[in-house]
Amino acid sequence: DLLGHVAVPDETPAKGPIIIQVALPVPLFDVFSYLVPDALLAQWPFAPGCRVCVPFGKRELVGIYLGQATNDGIQPDKLKTIHTVLDDESLLPESMLKLLHWAASYYHYPIGEVISCALPTLLRQGRPYNLLAQYWRLTATAEREALKRAPKQLETFDLLKLHDEPGAPESALLLMGASKKQLQLLQEKGLAECFLQKTEHQTHPVKLAELPLIPNDEQQLAIDTIKQHLASFKGILLDGLTGSGKTEVYLQAMQPVLEAGQQVLVLVPEIGLTPQTLDRFRSRFQCEIVAMHSNLTDVARLQAWQAAQTGRAQIVIGTRSAVFTPMPKLGLIIIDEEHDVSFKQQDTFRYHARDVALCRGHRESCPVILGSATPCLESLHLVEEGKLLSLKLTQRAGNAALAKIQLIDLKNQPREHGLARDLIDAIKQRLKKQEQVLIFLNRRGYAPVLLCPQCAWQADCPRCDAHLTVHRQPSEHLHCHHCNYQSRLPAACPSCQSTTLTPTGMGTARLEEGLKELFPDTDILRVDRDSTSRVGSWERIYERAHQEKGAILLGTQMLAKGHHFPHVTLVAILDVDGGFLNVDFRAPERTAQLIMQVAGRAGRGQKAGLVLIQTFKPENPLLQILIQQGYAAFAKTCMAERKAMLLPPYRYCALIRAETPQAEKSLQFLQHVLTLLYAQPEAKQLEKPPLEIWGPVPAPMERRAGVFRAHALIFCKDRRLLHHLLGHWWLQVCKLPERRGVRCSIDIDAQEM
Ligand code: ADP
Ligand code: ZN
Ligand code: ZN
Repeated sequence: DLLGHVAVPDETPAKGPIIIQVALPVPLFDVFSYLVPDALLAQWPFAPGCRVCVPFGKRELVGIYLGQATNDGIQPDKLKTIHTVLDDESLLPESMLKLLHWAASYYHYPIGEVISCALPTLLRQGRPYNLLAQYWRLTATAEREALKRAPKQLETFDLLKLHDEPGAPESALLLMGASKKQLQLLQEKGLAECFLQKTEHQTHPVKLAELPLIPNDEQQLAIDTIKQHLASFKGILLDGLTGSGKTEVYLQAMQPVLEAGQQVLVLVPEIGLTPQTLDRFRSRFQCEIVAMHSNLTDVARLQAWQAAQTGRAQIVIGTRSAVFTPMPKLGLIIIDEEHDVSFKQQDTFRYHARDVALCRGHRESCPVILGSATPCLESLHLVEEGKLLSLKLTQRAGNAALAKIQLIDLKNQPREHGLARDLIDAIKQRLKKQEQVLIFLNRRGYAPVLLCPQCAWQADCPRCDAHLTVHRQPSEHLHCHHCNYQSRLPAACPSCQSTTLTPTGMGTARLEEGLKELFPDTDILRVDRDSTSRVGSWERIYERAHQEKGAILLGTQMLAKGHHFPHVTLVAILDVDGGFLNVDFRAPERTAQLIMQVAGRAGRGQKAGLVLIQTFKPENPLLQILIQQGYAAFAKTCMAERKAMLLPPYRYCALIRAETPQAEKSLQFLQHVLTLLYAQPEAKQLEKPPLEIWGPVPAPMERRAGVFRAHALIFCKDRRLLHHLLGHWWLQVCKLPERRGVRCSIDIDAQEM
């Protein structure tokens, strides 16, 4: 019981007219009761988890049928009747509905909206869901003779012959080596035909497409341990350096699961789902693998979802929301880079995919592997408490040695284009040897500030408490990275009319210019959201980086994670100081994770790597521990600090946010609702103060996109009590008349302040 459980109401059969409960995608916490009209009784009983169309106000909505309602206290004549039933089968199996109920109550979010998150858009819109797939078979008159001189078509012909009754699904034929083109040629010759049929639920046996690598001792131990825990719930933290071969452990742990006919769910960070990631799974296993991410078209998403939901897809690889993909034969869940912030949804339904996955593994009795080189403190705490099993990989696989990390003290050091003399020398050395250099700067655009040197005026966003970033592409303009406000550069300073406005500070675009000046004969490859927005540009950069020839890669977060750059031997991190000085208590942890992730890009090939970090504060104790003793020691220190201050993971937290167009109103609203919180009967039980509230205070960037934001942090040692208390209270808050005009939200286990 990792996360605390909330009971799901039992269904009791009803007498009299049939009243059903329906979850609707509306911002209300209730489920809704409807009558089943006589005209639909022929379809009764409905499958829980099927879709129904119902009247709601003046609209018609698509909802999910949850079950029959108890008739107690419901007056049937007050109820409306449903219009239609869209499916004769359940789209969301009972286990998934239960998980969604749990998530709705744990994150205090309306159940109807939570369920709607689990459905692909087309199904949410009420489109038909026929589980049809394309099948192929030979025509009655097909003759093998006709293909004597077309050996490839002949092969396909024989394959079809083998599966002639009742035909074979196209996806299976492709897996067996047939090509779409050959099938079409056979069709043109009248030898084969294609038809639509309900997908069969049986899967095709998984085959190994390549031999597994021979694991080193640590990998072997990890693989064996995971295998011992298959078929029951176990949370396992695979704590392994970048390049230590975690992926190989995943692959070998998956193998027996797939061979037993079960499915594997792999979650990766938002920018981790690259073609290269998919290729690693594809080149190991010959089976149906589907990818689920936000860039899919609605149709592609539905198809991938259907493949998973019917049990046909053996491997589902996806980002955060894929954790809600129904998989009838789930046997293993893997979360790669489990510390990544993209697993937490930051708006609307603020779930954490890692925690949902642990809960899902628990409910569906399968192990959950959390892999990371820099585990989050929450996971390390669960290890301490004995709730997660820890497996360590401490050596880099193959011959690659771990990169050395050194600091460059920026005080008293001349800089050119933001780069210290020592760093420039180090870059020159690598380039001379045709090695590659990666420079990490987490700030896109040309310059973060436009400054008037005469009067110190700075260009600020009119809607946010933030500076505007200077961009020079596609043409010179100012851009707010928080609200997307854009404007032209003023011709003169609005405050003193001086015309010497100066872009100040360093963004990736400016650094690129500087590097071109410093290293005119070297390819400079910039990777950030602006440079890779054109289709194919990232692929071109990726290819160039894989040529064994000197180059400088420069970029933001996008460069930091998951990628394998074999020729990079030097990594430079330009700006880390801000990360350790943030008001957010999680900032040092995030900064350390980022440093280690970026550092992990160095020396992944055969050559030794070096990481140089520029800083004005080399004496920072946390930074010192990180570079001298590594992430584990850093995490230990950080944990001790959190423990001393009773911060998460030593207490549970919930962040309450309010936004209004007036600064005072946001704070007043929070003040008011917190008074209500203290007045709850549950709060009175909490005598020996296990409840602590910080705030309400203005948020770190108080004004953003024209609204004023305030928040309050609620801490409690007892998770169950906290949820009990918040549950009742939040329902009241949502119904308050004062809530009008206030956007407020509750963020359980908030990750960002
Ligand atoms: P991680 O996921 O921990 O960053 P990877 O799984 O990507 O590490 O492994 C890094 C590199 O080491 C890959 O090129 C991989 O093929 C190789 N590798 C992993 N395990 C072994 C092994 N047992 N023997 C040889 N090479 C290995
Ligand atoms: Zn001025
Ligand atoms: Zn703005």
